[in-house]
Amino acid sequence: MTVSVATLGFPRIGLRRELKVALESYWSGKSTLADLHAAAAGLRVAHWARQKALGADILPSNDFSLYDHVLDTSALIGAVPARYDWDGETVDTDLYFAMARGAQGDPAHAGCGHAADTTAQEMTKWFDTNYHFLVPELTAGQTFRIASTKIFDEYDEAKALGYQTRPVLLGPVSYLMLAKGKAVEPLALLPALLDTYAEILARLAKQGADWVQIDEPCLVLDLDDAQRAAFERAYARLATAGPRLMLTPYFGGLGDNLDLAAELPVHGLHLDLVRAPEQLGPALDKVRPHVLLSLGVVDGRNIWRANLSDLYWRLKELAATRDLILAPSCSLLHVPVDLALETALDPEIAQWLAFAAQKIEELAALTKALNEGEDAAFAAFSASRMAAVARATSPRIHDPAVAARLAALDTDAARRAAPFAARREAQRRRLPLPRYPTTTIGSFPQTAEVRKARAAHIRGEIDDAAYDRYLKVETRAAIKWQEEIGLDVLVHGEFERNDMVQYFGERLAGFAFTRSGWVQSYGSRCVRPPILYGDVSRPRPMTVDWWRYAQDQTDRPVKGMLTGPVTILNWSFVRDDQPREASCRQIALAIRDEVLDLEAAGAAIVQIDEAALREGLPLRRGEWPHYLGWAVECFRIAASGVRDDTQIHTHMCYSEFNDILPAIGAMDADVISIETARSQMELLGAFASYAYPNEIGPGVYDIHSPRIPAEREMTDLLTLAGRHLPSDRIWVNPDCGLKTRKWDEVRPALVSMVAAAQRMRIRE
Ligand code: GLN
Ligand code: ZN
Repeated sequence: MTVSVATLGFPRIGLRRELKVALESYWSGKSTLADLHAAAAGLRVAHWARQKALGADILPSNDFSLYDHVLDTSALIGAVPARYDWDGETVDTDLYFAMARGAQGDPAHAGCGHAADTTAQEMTKWFDTNYHFLVPELTAGQTFRIASTKIFDEYDEAKALGYQTRPVLLGPVSYLMLAKGKAVEPLALLPALLDTYAEILARLAKQGADWVQIDEPCLVLDLDDAQRAAFERAYARLATAGPRLMLTPYFGGLGDNLDLAAELPVHGLHLDLVRAPEQLGPALDKVRPHVLLSLGVVDGRNIWRANLSDLYWRLKELAATRDLILAPSCSLLHVPVDLALETALDPEIAQWLAFAAQKIEELAALTKALNEGEDAAFAAFSASRMAAVARATSPRIHDPAVAARLAALDTDAARRAAPFAARREAQRRRLPLPRYPTTTIGSFPQTAEVRKARAAHIRGEIDDAAYDRYLKVETRAAIKWQEEIGLDVLVHGEFERNDMVQYFGERLAGFAFTRSGWVQSYGSRCVRPPILYGDVSRPRPMTVDWWRYAQDQTDRPVKGMLTGPVTILNWSFVRDDQPREASCRQIALAIRDEVLDLEAAGAAIVQIDEAALREGLPLRRGEWPHYLGWAVECFRIAASGVRDDTQIHTHMCYSEFNDILPAIGAMDADVISIETARSQMELLGAFASYAYPNEIGPGVYDIHSPRIPAEREMTDLLTLAGRHLPSDRIWVNPDCGLKTRKWDEVRPALVSMVAAAQRMRIRE
């Protein structure tokens, strides 16, 4: 029996973000299409060679993408929406980029993930990752045909280099389940789509491919009968259409879809054993013996080193009875490329980590041991064991004070002393605000100058004092301007923050940061998630000085501005040695400390942003109540230490609240600001029928677009809002922070917003 190593997909962006550089240089007209394609080909060659050298036996092809693999699939099958005026022949690179970015290619708004350009395809999060894909748009009467040769070309390209690859293809059912249909239920298009998929597979077989990795991540979701039937129909057709199929679900266990997956007539099945280790036993009972199993045993979603001995003993017996493939739980797209670049990382922490390259080495060592005996990989095993012991016992990770504090936490800590009605009275006495109070969400434009000053400070070209002076000038100017235009509740502007999570991570114990740990978020955009490695505490106040400086400039109230515990958690690589909720509670206590320090310094209002609360929802509905239970509790731990007359705001930059409204209500923030500008306040109907009792700031201006809204549009929206909610509970604000906008856009928009609020006050 033999064990071999597959990777399921390698990060595309390049060790030094070469793809980003090549893309942005092409988009800005500084290089040619040929330059771009040459850079992309160079990356593919390097990635195949690297994976091979690290010990991968089964190399993927078509895992590379110039922008997004779902968009690649749309191009492959010719699913091009009518507005692109496509000639129906082939999807060329410029059309491909137009679908990705719109013709003008306005950058999307960071932190929220909406494409700003109206003509691009819609972008949304890939399952529960921070990667965004371009949502396929399908219409009634949609036809499909092979319209891109990328998958065939990349297979041949590898073959010419001597690599027999396993092409990666997004499966037809997941593709349709991720698509948006206009006047058509996407799954109704399955028969037509299968014809094209069968053709694609036949062509790959003709080229010499013996296996295809067909990704069906939707197999880990809750499926209805029609979706199950679609899987049966699809694989009955495709199993014999070309190469053998390695059916590849990931991001969770098959759960109640195991029977379905095990019955599909494919030759191979991948199992995510990181998210769902318990599914191995039942899968072995159900999957036919001739089906090749691919076991996802190292974590493709996180950066921790695996414990090779543990895995070895778990797999040894099984490896003696059947051939196996060992793989990451999912494509390595979601982890940084190579730990070797992190020379500045604390070596103690670095030894606990494995990025994409290291994960392949782990798989190779494990495979060698299973094939040849444990001693064959002695060095790798002992290093892995030592790292595991060091990590389990490190004083850097375990802080008894944090544990003691959590143990002593009683349920009252997550509850405000008085109910909302009483708090509201107290807050009104402390803060005499007009009706329709105006405010903003926190950040003002992060101009090129602000970013330049930050970069110069990081490089040491300007010292702390000079940087501080610069930030103070910006902050003071922002406060003066807000006063001048008549905003009621001011913000300091967040000029000192590089990122709403990183800023806090850098000031909390328990977080580490990489220099080059980039992970693709969408297209050329990458993020460097903080690494939450240990118990979290707050050594000293993080924002109080900036708040105090801003408040000293004005008599109007300035909001304290914090990122909430759930958002900090969801945008970081988190510990795998304790449940997510335990880490979140620790962050919640640290934020609570900050809230209390802001209050003690005199802040009457503190905003705790939870931009990422919704995206942490588990993929399976059945797990939602548990997640929402602890997520809401963590927010409340952070928010509930204050006096009745201190007003807690929260902000969420999305509009899909229908299915989580009770949880939002349970957060019990005094004021919540949300995104509604695009949906004509529709959402407020849901808030009203749920009888949401607290105050709401429905965003009246869409900051994701450079368009400057007119006063009239905003009074119209406020009038609409008044149909759903009593006017004395409505705040007036934009729908997100303004950091991605230009001052030229922000100034007139906020002036009109204040005018709109004033008009509403006169009308009443
Ligand atoms: N306070 C943050 C800001 O204004 C909130 C950002 C967000 O919700 N994405 O930038
Ligand atoms: Zn927002």
